[in-house]
Amino acid sequence: MNKKSWISLISIKQRVWIFATISVMILIIAIGFLPDSSKELLKPSDFNASMSIKEMAPKLGITRKSLARELNLPLSVRKGKPVKTLGITNEELHHVVEHILSHTDASLKYYIYVALVLGGLVFLVRLGRPDGSDIKDRKGWYPRTPYIIFLLISVIAAGFLLGKSPNPMEAIVKVFKSMVGLYPDPIIKVIALAFFIILAIVGNKIICGWACPFGSLQELIFFLPILRKIKKKKIPFVITNSIRAIIFAVMLLFLFGIIGGRKGFVIYHFVNPFNLFNLDFDSLTVIITIVIALSLSLFVYRPFCQLICPFGFVSWIAERFSIFRVRVDKNICTQCGACSNVCPTEAAKGIVAGNKMPADCFSCGRCLNSCPVDAIKYTFKNNK
Ligand code: SF4
Ligand code: SF4
Repeated sequence: MNKKSWISLISIKQRVWIFATISVMILIIAIGFLPDSSKELLKPSDFNASMSIKEMAPKLGITRKSLARELNLPLSVRKGKPVKTLGITNEELHHVVEHILSHTDASLKYYIYVALVLGGLVFLVRLGRPDGSDIKDRKGWYPRTPYIIFLLISVIAAGFLLGKSPNPMEAIVKVFKSMVGLYPDPIIKVIALAFFIILAIVGNKIICGWACPFGSLQELIFFLPILRKIKKKKIPFVITNSIRAIIFAVMLLFLFGIIGGRKGFVIYHFVNPFNLFNLDFDSLTVIITIVIALSLSLFVYRPFCQLICPFGFVSWIAERFSIFRVRVDKNICTQCGACSNVCPTEAAKGIVAGNKMPADCFSCGRCLNSCPVDAIKYTFKNNK
């Protein structure tokens, strides 16, 4: 069969879409440079042990209680006293401040997330499938290269260049931490989480699939053409989701002090792989998490997302409200299983079966050129 390439098949209109989308993405990112230039950049050396918790906490954007916790002091400690009188050295203070500052949001990242999600959405909805293309040419649809380019941009720009914050996982944790008084601005934290949830429902989990730097890194590793046979095996969703839900519930019990007796204690800190993007390897458990997650990614699809990430869990619930998503036309579908075979999760299988709560779909697009009878599309919720 004479295989035609995607680029040779796309229409003039689609080329205009590519040009317009790239232009808008560049514009969004360019706007993102504006707010950061006016931001005061703090350094650990701006703080010293002669300062009190009361003085330092507002500058660091956290509550006094939270700073006491970070310094490993009792929450009831007197916050107006210089911390050196509480036994904290300059070195210890700088270490803690460095960690707190690593959680400061690089606002440019918000714009990069929006740009990547926009590009991914346009690709899935309007560009991946060339206008008027015959079903016989479907193997050339939805080429991998644009996806891989997006994943690389996410890992490099939204990951290593701009550091770990903000990210979807942290957005959830910060909302709960502000509920126990560890952040002074709960409304801002809720808005940040809403931002990520909106990006998860505009296109089904598309923030995870196309823009989250740690998700992208796992996806890139999974793309490596090795261990193909093992890759085809999937961990049953009921297992992955149960583990993820239990970890989430345990996190809440610890955080609210129901178990452990230490309100504000966040277990995700010990397994936060986003530290990789700040090259912050202080915690052994974090190093182990990163090594295991990235090694498993060679043959397990996004192990951290499927087994641990709280945003992965919450956005799976939010998938019910997704505007654009994979849809299967039941009138045409022959239940041949072609889409389920190429899907790296049990999502396609669940969608075909009409499950109300199928497994996570990361909008990866693998299934979109698999259907021999053209029953599967990435489309607006109400389109048939
Ligand atoms: S589920 Fe994966 S992709 Fe989504 S926020 Fe978590 S780590 Fe990132
Ligand atoms: S292959 Fe699976 S995860 Fe990827 S878009 Fe299709 S249903 Fe979603």
